[in-house]
Amino acid sequence: MTTKLPRYDVAVIGAGVNGAGIARDAALRGLRVIILDKNDMCSGTSAISSRLIHGGLRYLEYAEIPLVYESLHERRYLRRNAPHLVKPLRISIPIFAGARRGRLLIRLGMIAYDLLSYNKSLPHHDMLNSDEMRKVEPGLRQDGLRGAARYFDAQVAFAERLVLENLLAARSAGAEIKTYCEVHQIKSCHGRVDSLVYRDKSGKDHEIGADTIVNASGPWVDEVLKTAPRRTRRFVGGTKGSHIVVSPFAGAPNDAFYVEAAADGRPLFIIPWNGQYLIGTTDIRYDDTLDTIRASRAEVDYLVAETNRVFPQAKLSIADINFAYAGVRPLPFQEKGPESAITRRHIIKLNRDIAKGLISIIGGKLTTYRSLAEQTVDRLAKILLRKLPECRTRDTPLPGAFGVDRAREKILASGLTTEWGGERLLSIYGGRAAAIVEIAAAGAPLRDKIDLDGHYLAAEVVFVIREEFAVTLADIIFRRMMIGFDADQGRSLYDAIAACAAAELGWSKTELHEELRELRSYADSLRVAERVSS
Ligand SMILES: Cc1cc2nc3c(=O)[nH]c(=O)nc-3n(C[C@H](O)[C@H](O)[C@H](O)COP(=O)(O)OP(=O)(O)OC[C@H]3O[C@@H](n4cnc5c(N)ncnc54)[C@H](O)[C@@H]3O)c2cc1C
Repeated sequence: MTTKLPRYDVAVIGAGVNGAGIARDAALRGLRVIILDKNDMCSGTSAISSRLIHGGLRYLEYAEIPLVYESLHERRYLRRNAPHLVKPLRISIPIFAGARRGRLLIRLGMIAYDLLSYNKSLPHHDMLNSDEMRKVEPGLRQDGLRGAARYFDAQVAFAERLVLENLLAARSAGAEIKTYCEVHQIKSCHGRVDSLVYRDKSGKDHEIGADTIVNASGPWVDEVLKTAPRRTRRFVGGTKGSHIVVSPFAGAPNDAFYVEAAADGRPLFIIPWNGQYLIGTTDIRYDDTLDTIRASRAEVDYLVAETNRVFPQAKLSIADINFAYAGVRPLPFQEKGPESAITRRHIIKLNRDIAKGLISIIGGKLTTYRSLAEQTVDRLAKILLRKLPECRTRDTPLPGAFGVDRAREKILASGLTTEWGGERLLSIYGGRAAAIVEIAAAGAPLRDKIDLDGHYLAAEVVFVIREEFAVTLADIIFRRMMIGFDADQGRSLYDAIAACAAAELGWSKTELHEELRELRSYADSLRVAERVSS
């Protein structure tokens, strides 16, 4: 065994939703935990999802009953433990003449969905005839409309914040968090994992000892396994999924829509999100580079065409897309068969053939990260031969869930921001928003507003740097303050935020310019019109 290295019971590779959930659960149960990500937290698949906390109605078609049951119950726990982040979402399924899924099948699915979530707090489904549906959603295509089913699921508008709050809870329970630290070697000793080597942002290598290692690197699972001393088979065979984001359009729906694509019969979502509409997704086998995935022209055309078909007044074109994002589902490798039939269940793979104590997480959903984490930490306890306390995450709120009403009073009483600005802070930081007005109370320049409308405080930028380990402008804008997903990608605030960050982090002028250049280049890469129109 390697000596004199900092040593941990568990090292988690990858700070997406699964890694963050595992780190939190393990730390809460008293294990010494470190979690590392080669980029910022939540910079992989967890940031490019449809942002639904859902049972997965579609999985009923593949008889994945246990997965739907588990997901529906996890939805309930998430609503209870993170009500500031996870909100109810009504979804309509229009029924058109000639569609693959007819009224009876949809009705049966709805009943099964209600039964599997018998003790939910959300309302049951209802069925509308075509006249009723026309009244509530006048922009919906009328031609061939037979009616609709409506049901409730939930939405996590900013999954980035869900991942972050898991990490904050992990840190409070003693876990160490290292972002921009890429693991490039896993070492073993006498057939057991022993240590790993990671490279930090400056290019320096560090080695840490670990009795167990959880490879929660999502689509990168096989790449990470290649850094271990022995070879193994392929585990992940991803499919690419893309979304486009557009501003409210003519005839846009009030509720979210779950529609069957005319082109291939796949279900896709049109979801009100962040003052815009999130439309997706595609599902295409993918074997290319994992680090910079962007929506292709064919995917964008497919999503635009399907939206225009269901909402004919929309008449969307590529020029109407504010931005798009894409990524890869880390699904279990399966050589043949339709993409949509690959199981969405997670697999907790013990890589004993490589080294005892090494575990890889394959698949999983945002919705079920908590139960996956519980099952993983139960396995770790067995490997470590430790009797750990029971898992507590089912009943433990995430940090921002505490003190929301008190925070609201404090923000209002401070008079520091507008009513809109205050509500925005609460919807992003929950009760933790109170700390932002505390920072602002220190006086200028922290209490200064950084926009003309007076919604945003300089103190918010400082808060996410001090309290939420943001280190780059993209971290601040796209994964903490969340303004990167506004229709203009928050561009009007880039210079002001950069100035606050430079003062807090002591950036030189050159560093500031380089940060701004990288931020703009990242934001540009998500824009569609310039990239795919040729
Ligand atoms: C298009 C699409 C839509 C989806 N929609 C939904 C949905 O609506 N609801 C739902 O519940 N689920 C949804 N999912 C599924 C869900 O988003 C993913 O399964 C989940 O986010 C996977 O999380 P993860 O933590 O395993 O992986 P990731 O989020 O990818 O995290 C892995 C992390 O590992 C890091 N990493 C990689 N290599 C290294 C290394 N060598 N060293 C250190 N760090 C490393 C990466 O930087 C990354 O941050 C969707 C998935 C896709 C693709």
